[in-house]
Amino acid sequence: MSIAALTLSGFFELCLYLGFAIMLLCLFPAILLSKIRRNRRRKNRLNCRLCAYRFVRRDGDEQAICPHCQAKNR
Ligand SMILES: [Zn+2]
Repeated sequence: MSIAALTLSGFFELCLYLGFAIMLLCLFPAILLSKIRRNRRRKNRLNCRLCAYRFVRRDGDEQAICPHCQAKNR
């Protein structure tokens, strides 16, 4: 089967499949990346053990200090 043998409807069908494939190829890495990013962010997020304030631990902080009550969290 060559390009010249393709009918017009066949060509549009091919375009449809190609577009679908390209969309999936773009979508899956994006979904994967967002999930990985969310997991990494969740790991750094913690609740203060004193006041239950929710905050994000900065990178490299062994003891995260609560911005609300200044308590040291592990
Ligand atoms: Zn606190």
